[in-house]
Amino acid sequence: MKEITCKLLIVGAGPGGYVCAIRAGQLGIDTVVVEAKKPGGTCLTVGCIPSKALIHAADEYEKIVHMAAGKTPLGISLANPAIDLKRTVAWKDAIVGRLTNGVAGLFKKAQVKSVHGWAKFRDGKTVEVETETGTQTIRAETVVIATGSAPVELPFLPFGGPVISSTDALALSEVPAKLVVVGGGYIGLELGTAFAKMGAKVTVVEALPRILPAYDAELTRPVAKRLTELGVEVLTGAKAKGLNAKKDALLVETSDGKEVAVHADKVLVAVGRKPLTEGWGLDELALDMSGKFIRIDDQCRTSMRGVFAIGDVTGEPMLAHRAMAQGEMVAEVVAGKKRSWDNQVVPAVCFTDPEVVTAGLSPDEARALGREIKTGLFPFQANGRAMTMLGEEGFVRITARADNHVVLGIQAVGQGVSELSAAFSLAIEMGARLEDIAGTIHAHPTMSEAFPESAMRALGHALHI
Ligand code: FAD
Ligand code: NAD
Repeated sequence: MKEITCKLLIVGAGPGGYVCAIRAGQLGIDTVVVEAKKPGGTCLTVGCIPSKALIHAADEYEKIVHMAAGKTPLGISLANPAIDLKRTVAWKDAIVGRLTNGVAGLFKKAQVKSVHGWAKFRDGKTVEVETETGTQTIRAETVVIATGSAPVELPFLPFGGPVISSTDALALSEVPAKLVVVGGGYIGLELGTAFAKMGAKVTVVEALPRILPAYDAELTRPVAKRLTELGVEVLTGAKAKGLNAKKDALLVETSDGKEVAVHADKVLVAVGRKPLTEGWGLDELALDMSGKFIRIDDQCRTSMRGVFAIGDVTGEPMLAHRAMAQGEMVAEVVAGKKRSWDNQVVPAVCFTDPEVVTAGLSPDEARALGREIKTGLFPFQANGRAMTMLGEEGFVRITARADNHVVLGIQAVGQGVSELSAAFSLAIEMGARLEDIAGTIHAHPTMSEAFPESAMRALGHALHI
């Protein structure tokens, strides 16, 4: 097979790799991207998008089940709701198909060459790709490693049989009657909540004393409350030990040291993700590592000349929008533009019920850094739009420097607050002060009015509380 030579070679077409390829193509760089599966990576095929599709379907279903049970004050009644998970999953797959085809189309438009197969590095400039038609050698001046991440497997609960990963959970053909989720982090709670809404009896087993331990307790309290309302049992400070002999229950050591068997049709293990650093010839490269991840500098350069790395393989936060921002930046660096990572904030959203958004520092994190701060919290209970949507649970909370009022961080928990992440990031990235946010007119009636109110509260003069 004829060797390909190019200026830029990208290994992996997840959000990091595919964005890097599109931008490089736009900049006129002769670019080749290699992907073993579908363009779009974890995010489009088995991550962000499919999970949000199932979460949306589950939200809709739970709402009508709630109405059918005569529990809504909205005056709506209906009967016998049902969900056919096979059709829900087929709908989700159609969305995934549209998006992965869309990325392939964007490669063509940007004149990026796409090679389908598994790439292995021979050296820092050369890879060999196992394609359907043979081995393709590709040589490049510059390479970008964007191989992403994979679910962590617990040695005493290997994937297979009733033990499933998030990828399997997104492709089930029926709702398990009893689902045990090991790990009360992003995936465990997003998918655990969705399955509870679709009718599963869900138990979450979390090793640490709190769910979503990356966030503070004030922020996660409304999520914990809603899990209880949905009938989800949460065992914190609990250790999963393995399946019982009949493989129909998970043995768990609870926080008080007792061993209990929690019956399960499926056990979803969601205890984190690990960088994908095996199977593609990392050993052929002399890369410095930072723990399990590839070490990068503020331009995503690795310790080898001409080798960049982006996305989950480079560390936390393992989020699609960080990978995309790195990919876009690297393409511009390769094109000779002056770029480096100078972002103030990578926002994060957890699509639980209610949703959680964080951008920048929490009050505790700011204090821990020795900052003198002002904080303001505005509850949705005092927001008219929230009342009209039965969404009074939660709040917007802002933290600013005490001396000049520059905003350091904003968090929110509440119905649909994921969309507020845009305003939060923009405010921090633009160096907004409390007065800027308090002085910006926010349309009425919207949930977003809680944002300037939180700033006014930090300044000591909230209007609606
Ligand atoms: P990946 O998306 O993992 O892509 C890497 C690609 O490289 C893969 O397609 C792989 O096949 C390919 N590849 C690897 N090695 C080779 C090789 N040697 N040859 C050829 N191809 C190779 N993040 C968010 O920001 N928001 C969310 O809501 C969100 N939800 C998620 C839900 C779930 C269930 C999961 C699992 C993850 C979620 N994430 C979310 C995380 C997000 O998916 C990742 O952060 C993101 O996909 C990382 O992008 P990446 O480009 O680094 O790698
Ligand atoms: P996570 O790090 O969010 O949560 C893992 C949880 O498992 C933690 O709470 C941890 O304390 C717990 N845990 C670890 N070992 C355990 C054990 N043996 N028994 C019980 N609990 C244990 O990881 P995740 O949920 O697998 O998600 C992986 C990554 O994917 C996230 O960190 C995030 O970067 C990304 N993701 C993002 C989103 C989003 O942005 N909305 C959604 C899903 C996934």
